[in-house]
Amino acid sequence: MHSPQFSAEPSFVFDVIIAGCGPTGAMLAAELRLHDVRVLVLEKETEPASYVRVVGLHIRSIELMATRGLLERLLEHGRQRPAGGFFAAIAKPAPEGLDSAHAYLLGIPQPVLDHLLEEHAIELGAQVRRGCAVADLEQDDEGVTVELADGERLRSRYLVGWRSTVRKLLGVGFPGEPARTETLMGEMEVGVPQEEIIAKVAEICRTNKRFDLRSFGHGVYRVVVPVAGVSDREEPPTLEDFTRQLRIIAGTDLGVHSPRWLSRFGDATRLAERYRVGRVLLAGDAAHIHPPAGGQGLNLGVQDAFNLGWKLAAQIHGWAPEALLDTYQVERHPVAEEVLDNTRAQLELLSTEPGPQAVRRLLTELMDFDEVNRYLIEKITAIDIRYDFGEGPDLLGRRLRDIDLKQGRLYGLLHRGRGLLLDRTERLTVGGWSDRVDHVADPTAGLAVPCILLRPDGHVAWIGDDQQDLDDHLFRWFGRPAD
Ligand SMILES: Cc1cc2nc3c(=O)[nH]c(=O)nc-3n(C[C@H](O)[C@H](O)[C@H](O)COP(=O)(O)OP(=O)(O)OC[C@H]3O[C@@H](n4cnc5c(N)ncnc54)[C@H](O)[C@@H]3O)c2cc1C
Repeated sequence: MHSPQFSAEPSFVFDVIIAGCGPTGAMLAAELRLHDVRVLVLEKETEPASYVRVVGLHIRSIELMATRGLLERLLEHGRQRPAGGFFAAIAKPAPEGLDSAHAYLLGIPQPVLDHLLEEHAIELGAQVRRGCAVADLEQDDEGVTVELADGERLRSRYLVGWRSTVRKLLGVGFPGEPARTETLMGEMEVGVPQEEIIAKVAEICRTNKRFDLRSFGHGVYRVVVPVAGVSDREEPPTLEDFTRQLRIIAGTDLGVHSPRWLSRFGDATRLAERYRVGRVLLAGDAAHIHPPAGGQGLNLGVQDAFNLGWKLAAQIHGWAPEALLDTYQVERHPVAEEVLDNTRAQLELLSTEPGPQAVRRLLTELMDFDEVNRYLIEKITAIDIRYDFGEGPDLLGRRLRDIDLKQGRLYGLLHRGRGLLLDRTERLTVGGWSDRVDHVADPTAGLAVPCILLRPDGHVAWIGDDQQDLDDHLFRWFGRPAD
C-alpha cells in the first residue's frame, strides 16, 4: 500500500469521505446520511458534466429509487420505455408478468440523474465539495488521511473511492481486457437532408452495428461513430475527429457542424480484485468497467451503493456484526463478474462477423421462448439477483417486489433505510432491535410465507414464523440487541 509521509495534523474529521460525486458516490452519501453518518463527498470537477448522454435505469434500480422515495422526482425528468430489447439490442418485447411493480425502463439524461442524486444527498445532510481531487491517501488503525491535489489534508474513518485514483493508490489489481476499440459520441447538427441521413444510416448499419445517428429534433443529432483501434487520449475528441471518421465509415462527413458536446469511450472490461482494503472501499466504475452494452454500469454502481451504505453505517455506529462489511464484496463482486460476462457475450453478438451473426440469429429465435427471453431480461434488469444467505426457500437472498400492505406500499415503508419485519402472524417482535428494524404486522399481506425479514437494501434475510429463529437472524444481520 502507498504510504505518503504526511507531516502535520489533518484539518477535519468525517466518518466517511467519498471520492467522486457521480451517481454511485451521491447515492452512497444519501444512504449513509439516512443513518446520520457524517459524509463528505469530494468531486474533482468544479461543474457538473455538460454532456447529455441518456442512460437507462433498469427495473431493480427503479425499484431502489422507489424504496427511497426518489422515483416521483426521476419520473418527472425521464421517459418510461418498454423493459425489453436491451440484451445485445435484440428487438424482443419483454415477456408478460415480470415480477415487479415497475416493469419498465426509465430513460433519463445522466447529468439530470446525477444532479437529482446529488441534490438528494445534500438534502439529507451530506457535504459536497467540488473542485477537490483526491491525490493521495494513507490509512492506519483509526482512519484514513486523504490528501487533495492542492495539498489540503482531510481525515475520516473510512474512504470510498471512485475511479482509478484510489484503486491505484491501494495497489488493488484490475484484471480484465484492455480497450480494443473506441467510439466517438456527440451531439451536433447535420448538414444534409433527413432522407439522405435515413438512407445512409440504413446502409451503414447493415454492416456496422456500432454506428448510430439519431435525431433529437431541430436538426440536432446524436452521432455515434466507431474508430478502428484505440487512442490513449483522455481529452474529448474534436469535431475534426468526427468528420474524419465519418468520411472513413460513411464516405461523407454528412456536413456535421455546431457540436453541443463531444465524447469518447472505449470497451475495456475490468474488475477490481478486491472491493475493500482495510478502511478503504471501492464501488461503481472504480470497481468495475465495461462497455455500455445493455446499459448496466450506472445501475450496477447505484446498486453497489445500496448494498454498502447500511453496512458501512452499521460499522461506524458500532452495531455491525463481525464481517458484515465484508459481505459487501462477497455479495457484489460476483454480481459485477456476471455483468462483465454478459457484456462480453453481448459484444460478440453485436459483431458483424458471419459466425457471431449466425449465433445472434439463433439466439433471436430462442428468445421467442418465453423462458429464454425472461431469463435474459431478468439478468439485464438485475431482478434475478439472489445473494447466498445459506439454505432456504428460493425467495431467501432475493429482493422482494413492492406490494400493498394495510400500512401502505411496502417500498414506502423502507424510505428510512432501516430493516423491516413483515409479519403476517402478528405475534413476533423485533425486541431489542427496534432501533434498527421496523415491525409491520399485516395478516392480509400478499405473501406465500408467514413472515419475512428485509435488510435495508430490500433483500430477504429470513423467512419463517419462529421467534428464536428470527432473533438469531436479527443478530446475524443487525448485531447485538439494545439493552
Ligand atoms: C456511452 C455510454 C452510455 C452509457 N449508458 C448507460 C446506461 O444506459 N445505463 C447504465 O447503467 N450505465 C450506462 N453507462 C455507464 C455509466 O455512465 C457509468 O457506469 C456511471 O457513470 C458510473 O458511475 P460512477 O458514479 O461509478 O462513476 P462516474 O460517473 O465516473 O463518477 C465518478 C466521479 O468521480 C470524479 N473523480 C474522478 N477522479 C476523482 C478524484 N481523484 N477525486 C475526486 N473526484 C474524482 C469524476 O469527476 C466523477 O464525477 C454508459 C456509459 C457510456 C460511456
